[in-house]
Amino acid sequence: MSSESATGNNVAAVSAAPTPTPSIGSSTAPPPAASPFMKGNVIDGKAVAAKIREETAAKVAELKAKYSRVPGLAVVIVGERKDSQTYVRMKRKACEEVGISSFGADLPETATQEEVLEVVRGFNSNPDVHGILVQLPLPKHIDEQAVLGAISVEKDVDGFHPLNIGRLAMKGREPLFAPCTPVGCMELLERCNITIKGKRAVVVGRSNIVGMPAALLLNKRDATVTICHSATKDMESIVRQADIIIAAAGQPQLVKGSWVKPGAAIIDVGTNPVDDPTKAAGYRLVGDANFEECKAVAGAITPVPGGVGPMTIAILLRNTLVSGERFITGKLQCPVAEDMKAGCSKKGPLSRLLPEKEHLGPWSLVAAGSLLAAGALQRVFTSRRQ
Ligand code: NAD
Repeated sequence: MSSESATGNNVAAVSAAPTPTPSIGSSTAPPPAASPFMKGNVIDGKAVAAKIREETAAKVAELKAKYSRVPGLAVVIVGERKDSQTYVRMKRKACEEVGISSFGADLPETATQEEVLEVVRGFNSNPDVHGILVQLPLPKHIDEQAVLGAISVEKDVDGFHPLNIGRLAMKGREPLFAPCTPVGCMELLERCNITIKGKRAVVVGRSNIVGMPAALLLNKRDATVTICHSATKDMESIVRQADIIIAAAGQPQLVKGSWVKPGAAIIDVGTNPVDDPTKAAGYRLVGDANFEECKAVAGAITPVPGGVGPMTIAILLRNTLVSGERFITGKLQCPVAEDMKAGCSKKGPLSRLLPEKEHLGPWSLVAAGSLLAAGALQRVFTSRRQ
């Protein structure tokens, strides 16, 4: 742990006099091993993301050398939103940099839902595509759930498919992919040697893409997790109990220094534009935590920008690598599922359960098969009892 002094901001929870930065997790915990990814108590998200990209590029090169194939990511964008176009450009460029093949579909704002679904189905059946991402938000006339639900679960590198989220929530199960931003938060904690097991974690925000999966990931790593949201009463006193705070409410500088237990680790996911006439763009980005106040109290904190932000794309690349590796090395082959697939006629029970069978892969079929088997067993037991 760094011996850098607190900045001496006027924070209620700490003395105004400079004090050593508290050790992470609690003021009495032994200091964790020094991490090359921390400068003082500030976590360098750019450096962690660069390391993950470097590791990903090395593994992509290994796959290429051994199998003459590389992972592929398809990014679908509908419409002309400038911010979405920028994110998509960044994702495609990031793919190139690590050697992942990039596939694109740029549809006009006027595209119909069926046209978007057709593109997704095309990527589902393209053997060179191992990950599919649909840039959100979609135009209002398109049902987002229908489009996201059409992505094959084996190619759901964003980790938003209900089967992946369900597995994340279940004990003893693992998802094929977990959502990129929350996984990025976990990586920041782990690579900065911040203990999660047994710690009290508070997640502020419960969205499907950040807060809720972040809480599930912390729970999987044996933290004791509390979720706060817009209806939470006395949030301040709940946050003050946390060894780890994940702030993901989309509310500029919501978490004050006085809410933070000395030594706590703060992962600030918030990315909020606030007016700033001194900037050429007329605004700057701030997080969900008041950085200067919280930095004076926290054992570790991510800045905005430069904290969680760079992690999201890095994890997307790694998820695509993992998916590509499964397909290319044949690890995803599942004989039972393939048998079931072969026996799945249009009028059969599987098709009735899974009407959109064209976008289903082996994993989905295993899940459906389990449901059918459970149903059959229940019928057997019921008939025995009668
Ligand atoms: P969201 O609007 O979907 O969800 C916000 C959540 O915060 C909700 O669950 C809501 O109940 C809760 N909330 C809102 N106001 C609150 C308050 N005053 N107190 C407590 N809880 C409150 O937002 P999101 O998509 O989860 O994003 C959250 C933030 O993270 C945004 O600033 C967003 O820009 C940012 N974000 C960053 C990345 C990244 O890569 N860095 C990725 C996704 C989102």
